[in-house]
Amino acid sequence: MEARTLYGAIEAGGTKFICAVADADLQIIDQVRIDTTVPAETMSQVKDFFSQYEVVSFGVGSFGPIDVNHDSDTYGFITKTPKQGWANYDFVGDLTRWFGKPVGWTTDVNGASLAEYTSGAAEGANSCLYLTVGTGVGGGFTINGDIYHAFGHPEMGHIHVHKHPNDTFEGACPFHGDCLEGLVSGPAIEKRVGIKGADISPDHEVWDYVAYYLGQAIASYSLVLAPERVVIGGGVMHQEHLLDRVKEQVIVALNGYVTLPPIDQYIQLPKLGDNAGITGALLLAKDTVEA
Ligand code: ADP
Ligand code: ZN
Repeated sequence: MEARTLYGAIEAGGTKFICAVADADLQIIDQVRIDTTVPAETMSQVKDFFSQYEVVSFGVGSFGPIDVNHDSDTYGFITKTPKQGWANYDFVGDLTRWFGKPVGWTTDVNGASLAEYTSGAAEGANSCLYLTVGTGVGGGFTINGDIYHAFGHPEMGHIHVHKHPNDTFEGACPFHGDCLEGLVSGPAIEKRVGIKGADISPDHEVWDYVAYYLGQAIASYSLVLAPERVVIGGGVMHQEHLLDRVKEQVIVALNGYVTLPPIDQYIQLPKLGDNAGITGALLLAKDTVEA
């Protein structure tokens, strides 16, 4: 029997893991959803799933923070998460011990940026900044086909922004209070207004603040990274009026100083939707053996 090339991928989220096995064309042949509980429980199901296949490599896009520094003693670990049991978990080490195959390892948002860059809303652009505004806020960056890692990975959700003059909310980030995530994550919005984000009317003032802060943040990322495309997803962006308001606020914040691509091209919603995470992890698995 001819041996098939198979890749393994894990989208490791704080609520659920998606594990997939795909063929050489990255067509998924099997997939499973596993609840994120504690590592012993979740990872034993991960191990069982992949034990059915002989994959050549793995790609993992994980919730974080994670250690991506190859020189570090804790490379491949999930590091400081408040999520019960997962702090200092040696994710790459376990996969390597169990299967002995190369593991591509990055953040969930870096994985999504690679997927949107390759076959989504940033296809054809030379770079893709992917921002999620959901339970948390995070950004990932892909440039010329490579995910951006340096000493660590970006933590774009925790930058500081100017407070809106009418905004008295103290913020919800346990580390920084009113950093970007502390002001615009889904839970921050709910804490501020007292009802679920999805139930807040489009004309509520909170959306003016959210657009104001996201506009400033994307202006800052534009100044630092000068990406060709910005893709902005996550549950909060399901508010359909928000994208145009964010675009306006990016323009206001930059005040004409840098030339951007046309704004509707520059800032887009994701194209891959729920598939971005697992697609990115598969691409990473493939890159890991081709590199
Ligand atoms: P995660 O970040 O856990 O991957 P999501 O990206 O789906 O998940 O984000 C979940 C967050 O998005 C929750 O805080 C939820 O309240 C918020 N959310 C979901 N839908 C909407 C909506 N239509 N409007 C505003 N907030 C929403
Ligand atoms: Zn913060």
